[in-house]
Amino acid sequence: MRAITMHKAGDVRVENVPDAAIQEPTDALIRVTRACVCGSDLWPYNDGPNNAGQVMGHEAIGVVEAIGSDVRTIRPGQVVIMPFAFSDGTCMFCDEGLQTACIHGGFFGNGNAVGGAQAEALRVPFADGTLFPVDVDAEDALMPSLLTLSDVMGTGHHAAVVAQVKPGHVVAVMGDGAVGLCGVIAARRLGAEQIILMGRHEDRLALGKEFGATHFVRERGDEAIARVSELTGGHGAHSVLECVGSEKAIETSMGIVRPGGAVGRVGVPHYSTIPDAQSMFFSNVTVGGGPAPVRAYIAELLPEVLEGRIEPGKVFDRKVDLDGVPEGYDAMNRREALKVLIKP
Ligand SMILES: [Zn+2]
Repeated sequence: MRAITMHKAGDVRVENVPDAAIQEPTDALIRVTRACVCGSDLWPYNDGPNNAGQVMGHEAIGVVEAIGSDVRTIRPGQVVIMPFAFSDGTCMFCDEGLQTACIHGGFFGNGNAVGGAQAEALRVPFADGTLFPVDVDAEDALMPSLLTLSDVMGTGHHAAVVAQVKPGHVVAVMGDGAVGLCGVIAARRLGAEQIILMGRHEDRLALGKEFGATHFVRERGDEAIARVSELTGGHGAHSVLECVGSEKAIETSMGIVRPGGAVGRVGVPHYSTIPDAQSMFFSNVTVGGGPAPVRAYIAELLPEVLEGRIEPGKVFDRKVDLDGVPEGYDAMNRREALKVLIKP
């Protein structure tokens, strides 16, 4: 089958790889009908993959082609959303709704023995725990928005949940990538009154406005902190959604959160310590977050997508087939494309 492999930084290829197949009785095999390139795929694109030649991709919608003998709820022919992490659905952490900490779980497309979603097909471990069936046609017009439930919309929502967004809150969203923009949708759903989107790409800020952002901060660093202070009567934001993961972004986040507020981190951190521990203590700031348990959030977000109340699929501004994926990575890396949808 054909799949997208990464060999070293900047080296993304369309290659023939061994066909995906059922290996364990709890597996399902899916034909990938939609996948995409993630902002987090750009970290290995710039720094190099975990394993040379690994199949990339962790976001997908597919049609179930086959199931193992122990699969109970997933059936061949179903259209399924595949969260970016697989999980058994039965352990203590899955029970608690933290499937990204599943005792038997792991991540797709990161160079381990499980493959990636930027491919014609994929083996899905723990099909019953991992996959979420949706009663729609595989070519439904809502596919882009449904696909965001495999990662970016669930991740933006997680940032908002961890940052304790509540009705009437002042929310700041760091980053105008797909996750940040979905964070705006999430903050609005949860009742935020003022939503300050921080970024510098005008087209993305415009989409953020459509999603519910009320104010925009284009500055960075100390200037951005001063600007948020101005916009919030000198107090800062109740909730900060950190959707970037860089050292600069966490520094700014810590500078704009108000006393008693919370920072929800969902950008994969490329720093080893959280700055401003002293002021974090004296202002009673909570910092939390991590890989979003998107599997837990699908049930809550899916009806809103199906009823058209939220349209996170608008983050896709380019559509390619597998042959177009290497160029898609390049376009996203140059910030020319916001998020690339793949129809294998
Ligand atoms: Zn589990």
